Amino acid sequence: MPITNGDAMFGGAPLLSKQQILPHQKAIEVLKEYESRDGLNIDQLLDSNKNGALTYNDFLVLPGYIGFAASDVTLDSPVTKRISLKTPLLSSPMDTVTEDNMAIHLALLGGLGVIHHNCSADDQADMVRKVKRYENGFISDPVCLSPKTTVAEAVALRDQLGFGGFPVTEDGQLRSKLIGIVTNRDIQFHDNLEEPVSEVMSKDLVTAPAGTTLAEANDVLRQSKKGKLPIVDSNGNLVSLLSRTDLMKNHNYPLASKLPHSKQLIAAAAIGTRPDDKTRLQKLVDAGLDVVILDSSQGNSLYQVGMVKYIKETYPGLDVIAGNVVTREQAATLIAAGADGLRIGMGSGSACITQEVMAVGRPQATAVRAVASFAARFGVPCIADGGIQNVGHIVKGLAMGASTVMMGGLLAGTTESPGLSFVRDGKLVKAYRGMGSIDAMEDKKAGAGAANSKASNAGTARYFSEGDRLLVAQGVSGSVLDRGSVTKFVPYLIAGVQHSMQDIGVKSLVALREGVNDGTVRFELRTVSAQAEGNVHGLHSYDKKLYS
Ligand code: GDP
Ligand code: GDP
Ligand code: 5GP
Repeated sequence: MPITNGDAMFGGAPLLSKQQILPHQKAIEVLKEYESRDGLNIDQLLDSNKNGALTYNDFLVLPGYIGFAASDVTLDSPVTKRISLKTPLLSSPMDTVTEDNMAIHLALLGGLGVIHHNCSADDQADMVRKVKRYENGFISDPVCLSPKTTVAEAVALRDQLGFGGFPVTEDGQLRSKLIGIVTNRDIQFHDNLEEPVSEVMSKDLVTAPAGTTLAEANDVLRQSKKGKLPIVDSNGNLVSLLSRTDLMKNHNYPLASKLPHSKQLIAAAAIGTRPDDKTRLQKLVDAGLDVVILDSSQGNSLYQVGMVKYIKETYPGLDVIAGNVVTREQAATLIAAGADGLRIGMGSGSACITQEVMAVGRPQATAVRAVASFAARFGVPCIADGGIQNVGHIVKGLAMGASTVMMGGLLAGTTESPGLSFVRDGKLVKAYRGMGSIDAMEDKKAGAGAANSKASNAGTARYFSEGDRLLVAQGVSGSVLDRGSVTKFVPYLIAGVQHSMQDIGVKSLVALREGVNDGTVRFELRTVSAQAEGNVHGLHSYDKKLYS
């Protein structure tokens, strides 16, 4: 018998007569007759008795209702108890991922790059200093020249520092009488290099008095059409400097991770938990560090508890992120010690063989949910670290309760990671290696520094102890495809996450977490064939271009 709309229903419902079919206006109301929403809630999804422990690929989020534009989705999220980011993306403290260049660019885009510690303390502190100096409101310690400084010296200083706008003061120091300013244009084509800068400097200066607010000073700077605005006290002594470039940086990077008072970029760096890491930390703090990450694959240790307590006592202004952890019990120890944030993941990293070799670890989606839901009770934000291969994984990490996600391999191929691209098997690639790979550990032991990195001299160890006679690898060394600049790639990741959240029907990460916790955001497990179906299949060939 042919089935028509008039005398049958779909989806396993009983055959209905025309009279029994409900009016379409009742569709929403009829939903109430169902015991629960379609799909699984988070607890049903992560019932490990039934489903085992899950990775990001093992489930999907079900779509919700779209009532807003993707561009309206905000991604603000805390990374520690005190610091929030506008882009919930971090780069790993690995020597093939994060040095100053990555940290600066990720911070400009609203994220946070964590500078690695496979280098000397001085090199790491220099990198922190570069991040802190990159953008300013008032430059509170501008490099000054004395009138006797020669043009040659000014040129050398410009080449070394990367900027060429120098106030000239009577004794060449801050808080001394301002008598002129030397800029790039004054020294660019000047032939007589031995002449003092007093001969080339501009003396007719627009200045603003100490006590001027940043907004007012910016206005003066805009109207003056000059590149710099020196701020002077009532005696004409220089107290700080404003740079037009910072107005541009602020305009071009509205999401930038900055501290409200200084307008400087937020700097984060990793250290270990050995006694000499305390000396290292002092150098980093002197350079302006805002967030320190205790870098360990198993953070639930006597050493880390001691270090967290030491940091909280010694540097109350510094935020400390402890980890890594994957269980509630591990998290509890570090939260009790005073951690301002936690980093979650063990063995899920793309260059990592910990689970295979050590037989310890936990599938990442389950680990993130277990730790983040516990830590949330104490207001401690969590980072989902490792195993992020695409935009969908970022969203899944956030849906499991992480406030931010950390990426190594996904960012290692960008222009801003240390080292240069090279060709392998006909493809442009960049080096990427686990910090527990034999390569990375041997560099540490030998004091050679990272193969790729600018930094030299060994630092601390995450995966081996000084006395170890034999190195046991927990990571591999390889390469990843070149991805171009993070200034294109990260905006793609951000836009991708916004579109995904629009599909889920949540306008912010707070709404996502609320929806997951109250059961309105639903999930579905993916069988192996569901995963195959969800990927490209049945095509003879294709190009996978991700954004343009
Ligand atoms: P709000 O706009 O009142 O929330 O205050 P903000 O602290 O965001 O900004 C105060 C002023 O500082 C505004 O004029 C901003 O444009 C300006 N501003 C923000 N970031 C920077 C920066 O990095 N450098 C400079 N020179 N000005 C900035
Ligand atoms: P310049 O005009 O050659 O000085 O350099 P730019 O226009 O590139 O701006 C200088 C950038 O370096 C700004 O973002 C400043 O905030 C930053 N900066 C950090 N410290 C200093 C400093 O001591 N002097 C100057 N001129 N800029 C600094
Ligand atoms: P990815 O984003 O590449 O998947 O993972 C990056 C994360 O892997 C890092 O943030 C760090 O937690 C972890 N990791 C880095 N190197 C190693 C390693 O050699 N072994 C292990 N087990 N994990 C590593």
